[in-house]
Amino acid sequence: MKLVFATNNLNKLAEVQKMLPASIELLSLKDINCFDEIEETATTLEGNAQLKANYIKEKFGYNCFADDTGLEVEALNNAPGVYSARYAGEPSNSENNMQKLLTELNGKDNRKAQFRTAICLNLDSNQFLFEGICKGQILTEKKGEKGFGYDPIFQPEGYDKSFAEMTSEEKNKISHRGLAIQKLVEFLKEYY
Ligand code: IMP
Repeated sequence: MKLVFATNNLNKLAEVQKMLPASIELLSLKDINCFDEIEETATTLEGNAQLKANYIKEKFGYNCFADDTGLEVEALNNAPGVYSARYAGEPSNSENNMQKLLTELNGKDNRKAQFRTAICLNLDSNQFLFEGICKGQILTEKKGEKGFGYDPIFQPEGYDKSFAEMTSEEKNKISHRGLAIQKLVEFLKEYY
């Protein structure tokens, strides 16, 4: 059966396809000729994932899932959260986002943070939500060259290196997105 992952990120798509049984064929937005800019105007991660998954189901009729991720920093009342991509304004810029976060946390002892991913799955007439959390802390300066987004300043709990110092295999095993996707995959294997 065909299942749309509401993304144009081919790395994410390939990563999930590898974890699924061959009977489930994952399609990207491009594969279904969807070139629309899908709005992410909700105030929660779940809301944004739902907006994207509903858009595809309603306009294209496909079973579909969508994800949204945010970095929640305890001392900042869980900001930047759903606004993580545009924390330092538009257009989205990771360097500026990290700089802003380091400035906001300057002098604060509590550097606890978590990445959280919400996935919304529209399957036949039902909707299912999955969540993945990776707890850790915000470092005082950037470390490592790999990854993207806030990776150089996020150190997961139990490790003495940042996400940007990990290989993608290492990161995927413990990451918010990896965990949410594992839950989704287990569910899909049961369902089909
Ligand atoms: P998205 O929902 O996957 O597009 O993520 C939204 C924003 O959160 C991204 O633009 C990044 O700034 C940040 N982000 C999401 N996942 C990660 C990650 O694994 N590492 C670092 N930053 C991330």
